[in-house]
Amino acid sequence: CIMIFGRHVNKYYARYWYMFLLGILATIVVDVVQLEIPNNYGSLIDYLEQEKLTIPLLMAIITNISIIIIILFVGRFLWRICLLGAAIKIERDLRKEMFLHTEKLAQTFFQTNKTGAQMALYTNDIMSIRDCFSDGVIMLIDALFLGTMAFIKMFQLNVPLSLISAIPLLILAMCGGIIGKYMDKKWDARQAAYDKMSDFTQENFSGISVIKAFVKEKEELREFTKINKDNEVKNLDFVKFSTLMEILIDLLISTIMIIIIGYGSYLVKSTDSFTIGDLTRFNSYFGTLIWPMMAVAYLINMRAQGTASLKRISELLDQKIEVKDADDVITDAELNGNIEFKNLNFTYPLSETEVLHNVSFDIKAGETIGIIGHTGSGKTTLVDILTRIYNIPEESVFIDGYDIMKLPIRDVRNLISYVPQDNFLFGATILENIAFSRDEMTVEEAMVYGKLAGVHDDIMGFKDGYMTVIGERGVTLSGGQKQRISIARALAKEAKVLILDDSVSAVDTKTESMILSNLKEYKNGRTIILIAHRVSTVINSDKIILIDDGKIVACGKHQELLENVPMYAEIVHLQELEAELTKDEHEMEVK
Ligand code: ADP
Repeated sequence: CIMIFGRHVNKYYARYWYMFLLGILATIVVDVVQLEIPNNYGSLIDYLEQEKLTIPLLMAIITNISIIIIILFVGRFLWRICLLGAAIKIERDLRKEMFLHTEKLAQTFFQTNKTGAQMALYTNDIMSIRDCFSDGVIMLIDALFLGTMAFIKMFQLNVPLSLISAIPLLILAMCGGIIGKYMDKKWDARQAAYDKMSDFTQENFSGISVIKAFVKEKEELREFTKINKDNEVKNLDFVKFSTLMEILIDLLISTIMIIIIGYGSYLVKSTDSFTIGDLTRFNSYFGTLIWPMMAVAYLINMRAQGTASLKRISELLDQKIEVKDADDVITDAELNGNIEFKNLNFTYPLSETEVLHNVSFDIKAGETIGIIGHTGSGKTTLVDILTRIYNIPEESVFIDGYDIMKLPIRDVRNLISYVPQDNFLFGATILENIAFSRDEMTVEEAMVYGKLAGVHDDIMGFKDGYMTVIGERGVTLSGGQKQRISIARALAKEAKVLILDDSVSAVDTKTESMILSNLKEYKNGRTIILIAHRVSTVINSDKIILIDDGKIVACGKHQELLENVPMYAEIVHLQELEAELTKDEHEMEVK
């Protein structure tokens, strides 16, 4: 089958059936009318040869051709509008479907698939599918209709001549099938090479500062040259095949031309029934047949690209959405932020090592909790679980008594406001970043949160204040400024649970204590979870949870832990020493 079909595109034929129908009808009309031109030429030649041409006859032929031209004009306009229009709409719909689906996919998808290759789907692949829906449909109709009808007309004029002309076409059909198969593979390889280049470029530009700092530009260029070369080779490979196809058709067309002229002239000379006018007609019909033949070649080429691209896009659309609402989801739960972990064991998907072991603790709504532990002990994993980024065993984490796996994911995420460890900010204004959870926010409102997060003065120091545009990934801001802007963004969400994941690590202790005291003011019955590796961040919490190597070691107030838990006391002791050291260094610098 020449047209592209597949579970993910069939619905579009149905959705835009009227455009396809009108477009196909217009194409058929164009094809039928077009075939009237040779007949008129033939008559003209016969009249001329037999010296029967009169002015009214000439006028009649001119009128005929003019009408044909007008119909062709309208018809061609119509099919372009309809079929190209449908294809562009399908491109839009399919892209939207891909984006929507991708957004729902689990973290593991983004860990295993690079951005560059994903971008290729949205550009290269979707375009080859669009071409199948527009040019592909036209060519198919032309090849079928125009081709068959031209052939019938040729047969009506002279059977032996038509049969001889048909032999090369059979050869074309056979070769086309074989070449088409190879082209599928070549196109796949071409796309894979393109993905690689796209990935490489994307990662290189994202990590440009690391590359510069390690003076690795030359090596990167060398690597890029290799990838680029590979891309060239794969492209050439594909082009070789499509050119082969075109040359083959050219060759066949020339062969048939020679047959028509040679055998046709012989027929005109030796029989009375085949006139010069008939030879002109026959030749002209064959002229009409050239395009459908070319169309077959293009179609084979286009289909190879279209099916390969559709396969790649289908792979994305067929990715299972793993983190989703349970079938028996509880929709009417009112959530306040009482959290309970009950013997939770957790292993990341695609990993074999368990990272949380038998974790149990509870947080009452309105409490401020500190979670402390060494890097890699599992603190961020606890947050990922609370924000329902991953699936966990049932009956192991509860919010207000409801199993988190049974709650609507949206509700859980709406309950929680979160300052992520990497402080990702969007390439937009500071205001837009702070207002991310809201539809609208005035600068004055944003200032309230900016002040609470201790970043207001920094922002006012920028020329455009809250309207300052943050460079991609916030490159124009310091680490501490990024941290505090993402704190402001989380505060602006005004959610019942606030989680700060090591969010004050990049600011000095003075700013830290200012932010922490502002949080008290902001609290207003909220549950606050402070994840930290610095004791100073959690010292005043209602409860501190000490976690080590995925296990809860202890849980209690600072003083209790200090007195009863040696591990906690050691962390405190080490950090005091560290503080002394940095203070000494600071004093020495001042001197
Ligand atoms: P912390 O926040 O305390 O520094 P994390 O919760 O980030 O620690 O990590 C806990 C453990 O889980 C680490 O050993 C880390 O290597 C592992 N880990 C983190 N993310 C993943 C992941 N996506 N897949 C597999 N293992 C992970």
